[in-house]
Amino acid sequence: MKSSGVLLASTDHLQMSCRGGTGRNYSLICAPIMGKSVDQMLIEIGKAKAGGADLVEVRLDYLNSFNPRQDLKILIKRSPLPTLFTYRPKWEGGQYEGDETQRLDALRLAMELGADYIDVELQVAHEFLSSISGRKPENFKVIVSSHNYQNTPSVEDISILVARIQATGADIVKIATTALDITDVARVFQITFHSQVPIIGLVMSERGLISRLLCPKFGGYLTFGTIEAGIVSAPGQPTLKDLLGIYNFRQLGPDTKVFGIIGNPVGHSKSPILYNKAFKAVGFNGIYVPLLIDDIGKFFDVYSSADFAGFSCTIPHKEDALKRCDEVDPVAKAIGAVNCIIRRPSDGKLIGYNTDYIGAITAIEDGLRGSHTTNNSSGSPLAGKLFVVVGAGGAGKALAYGAKEKGARVVIANRTLDRAKEIAELIGGQAISIAELENFHPENGMILANTTSIGMQPKVDLTPIPKRALSSYSLVFDAVYTPKMTRLLREAEESGAIIVSGLEMFIGQAYEQYERFTNLPAPKELFREIMAKY
Ligand code: NAP
Repeated sequence: MKSSGVLLASTDHLQMSCRGGTGRNYSLICAPIMGKSVDQMLIEIGKAKAGGADLVEVRLDYLNSFNPRQDLKILIKRSPLPTLFTYRPKWEGGQYEGDETQRLDALRLAMELGADYIDVELQVAHEFLSSISGRKPENFKVIVSSHNYQNTPSVEDISILVARIQATGADIVKIATTALDITDVARVFQITFHSQVPIIGLVMSERGLISRLLCPKFGGYLTFGTIEAGIVSAPGQPTLKDLLGIYNFRQLGPDTKVFGIIGNPVGHSKSPILYNKAFKAVGFNGIYVPLLIDDIGKFFDVYSSADFAGFSCTIPHKEDALKRCDEVDPVAKAIGAVNCIIRRPSDGKLIGYNTDYIGAITAIEDGLRGSHTTNNSSGSPLAGKLFVVVGAGGAGKALAYGAKEKGARVVIANRTLDRAKEIAELIGGQAISIAELENFHPENGMILANTTSIGMQPKVDLTPIPKRALSSYSLVFDAVYTPKMTRLLREAEESGAIIVSGLEMFIGQAYEQYERFTNLPAPKELFREIMAKY
């Protein structure tokens, strides 16, 4: 076992490539079953089978009443999937508070009645395994587990824990820790990848999600997939549907390249659906995951291998991302924000780009061309227009830069006036505070582009500008795309303006990023179909 805390430095990567190669992964998907009665559990097991799980973890500690011999017999006999029985006590994070002898007797009985696996906690594993010594049925496996609900220890400490679990005679080692930061997951990947015995290495919490999604890449024995969103047996479990339908779990292997969206929050992003569906459609060996990141520098320091090949970047990291790149494309440098980062295969350097403005500016131009507000058909219809950008973050800078490039006169309105002034100075424009927008109507036929997150789910009732102030605008664009029709767009349409949705910007910037990630042409029609569906 390596003792370095850094994930997958180049030697690790080499070993990983050697280990893979067949393209087939053997990691399983296990659905946790937490019904209150045996009947309810059987219904859930049926759903797990229909949803594509490989096995079920029957959580006996969730049953309201439990008659071991009768109930285990029924569950084992009637389950269409292999069964793993877990009877988790309170002291290890479960529900069971009764007698320990009865608890372990029930697990022994499950083994005798034909269970495929049982899970016992490290604390009682020695005693339990010696009690069944010489009596284990063929193909029956004991998982010995350890759960840490506080944090993720160092690689050294986890290695010691794994060795202790192995010493009990476990067939499969299970380590579940808690991520306080996404970099914690790297230590569990490292342990999982180098393990000489079958291992389940999972990191709980939203920041640990990639430990579950990337399980086949690092050779984990199984990951958990729930039959319903939010009904989890441990924090951070994805659904079966997402594992199979979005993250292409069966196609993942050691050589799969990892891409992802860096953000905070990041759960709302539609990018994982878009890229993973496109990867699958063209047979590209990649996965695109949400990366909930607190410190982008720390993330890049730890996930430094070529396996982590490319990233999209959203709130609030676009400006920090620029500082963390080894090289920055001149347009991104001028904008001062990066929304796409590629790890250059030849030398591992991080190269930053900005693809944000292309999709938005093109969509706004198309919107204007389709209207009667301009007769300028050869040059950009934005030339000479007064273009008001609301927001001075990454997207705001990109839109202001793009509009200026097209010959518009740019005004930046922002909550923090100093940030608006910075951009105004940079590109040669005017800065106002967001509060001034209400009475800002120097002329008619202006363009408004919201680039703040105001109006984004869940706060869909908010809008950056009162409706009465919208009458001076001929076109209103909103970068927010969840929901597709924001309050701002609805009120703009009611006021007679052309509206352009953030979805157009999203699709436009996604084409650009996809081509950089894969070196393949973006399947544009597919992108539109996917976005129309989700
Ligand atoms: P960012 O760099 O964090 O900037 C956020 C901006 O919003 C800042 O100007 C901030 O003002 C302002 N803001 C945030 N909350 C506010 C509030 N409650 N009241 C007033 N102003 C507020 O974020 P970003 O990356 O530019 O993204 C901004 C928005 O654009 C997000 O909703 C994002 O989803 C969307 N976006 C969409 C696409 C697309 O493809 N459609 C692409 C990129 C971004 P201060 O300076 O005062 O903090």
